[in-house]
Amino acid sequence: MDEVILIKLGEMVLKGLNRGSFEAALLKNIRRRLLPLGGFEVKSAQSTVYVIPRGGADLDAAEERIAKIFGIIAFSRACAVEKKMPAILEAAGEYLKNDLLAAKTFKVESKRSDKIFPLQSPQISAQMGEYLLEKYPHLRVDVHHPDLVVRVEIRDFGAYVHGQPLRGAGGIPAGTGGKAAVLISGGIDSPVAAWMMAKRGIELTAVHFASPPYTSERAEQKVVDLLSRVSEYSGRMTMFTVPFAHVQEAIMQHCPEELFTLIMRSFMMRVSEKIAEQEGCAAMITGESLGQVASQTLPALVCTDAAANLPVLRPLIGMDKLEIINISRKIDTFDISIEPYEDCCTVFTPKHPRTRPVLADLLEAERALDCAALTEECLNGLKLTKIYPAR
Ligand code: ATP
Ligand code: MG
Repeated sequence: MDEVILIKLGEMVLKGLNRGSFEAALLKNIRRRLLPLGGFEVKSAQSTVYVIPRGGADLDAAEERIAKIFGIIAFSRACAVEKKMPAILEAAGEYLKNDLLAAKTFKVESKRSDKIFPLQSPQISAQMGEYLLEKYPHLRVDVHHPDLVVRVEIRDFGAYVHGQPLRGAGGIPAGTGGKAAVLISGGIDSPVAAWMMAKRGIELTAVHFASPPYTSERAEQKVVDLLSRVSEYSGRMTMFTVPFAHVQEAIMQHCPEELFTLIMRSFMMRVSEKIAEQEGCAAMITGESLGQVASQTLPALVCTDAAANLPVLRPLIGMDKLEIINISRKIDTFDISIEPYEDCCTVFTPKHPRTRPVLADLLEAERALDCAALTEECLNGLKLTKIYPAR
């Protein structure tokens, strides 16, 4: 029995003049993710993408990857048969055998996009219903709340039979929404922020601030591991590691302790903006959530924003920690995020950070530093790491 995966495109993709380019990007992303698995043909017709295995390619593995590709609303593994009613009936009875045995009630939904096929959809459903009732006498038809919906699709390339479709990752195909630089720590929030913007079509570049010898190599590896998980959804990316210890030492020595975190955050924005511009990014992304910590109050965000001109996307701004954690579990970053390696932010934490900072005070405090030289030093010490999907 020939099996394929049928993919339904997200609603966004079906609308407007951009449809062609969205669809092309999605096909490219699917092909790229399936290539290492070998032997799949990927083609699209009539708002459906077909993934057809050639020579025993691994459909289970393909399904796992397809579940993480943005721009897909749903997908189903289906049995492909020739467009002849007896073959279709028999295929359904065999292919969905286990589901049919487990169900008490069912209904049939048919769709005929090949208008040359001699039967209309209601006739296809009626014949299929009759056949299955005879083959599985324990079944009853329930059109309102069936245990199982048997789906029959008569399409250009053949007839397809399948059961319940699986939910896709939703969103918009990666790379169709421009590029942005995500400021990534080893925490719970920023990987979720990266994932959320990738879901809206953004191609990611990552910037991580590390402070050896205060932070360990293991802490940096943790960030690489987190990004590898995110890239299962977003596609590969480049990570820039910024040496940050000198900046932090300079702030410690020359600035008031209560402003330490904010001045550090301003530096992060300044340096990240330079990297973003070099990399052709139109925005930056952070994992800030309003009021979560002292540096994320509204007055604090006003100060952070003043450090850079590029727009800062903060997809978590209105979310509670629990909501963020739920997403991080769903995308499998949580377990890595809670590994206990120190981030550069936690190395020097002031005892009493200012929660209502005033921008003028911050700018005044920063005058004690040679910001241009420190920024330059950061940019000269950048390290590049290529990030690939973990699985
Ligand atoms: P996260 O869980 O993402 O670390 P957080 O709640 O710990 O966030 P902060 O430590 O205040 O919050 O950091 C706020 C945001 O600043 C982070 O979400 C991230 O975007 C950025 N950021 C923090 N530390 C770093 C770092 N070492 N490198 C790059 N960006 C960072
Ligand atoms: Mg953090």
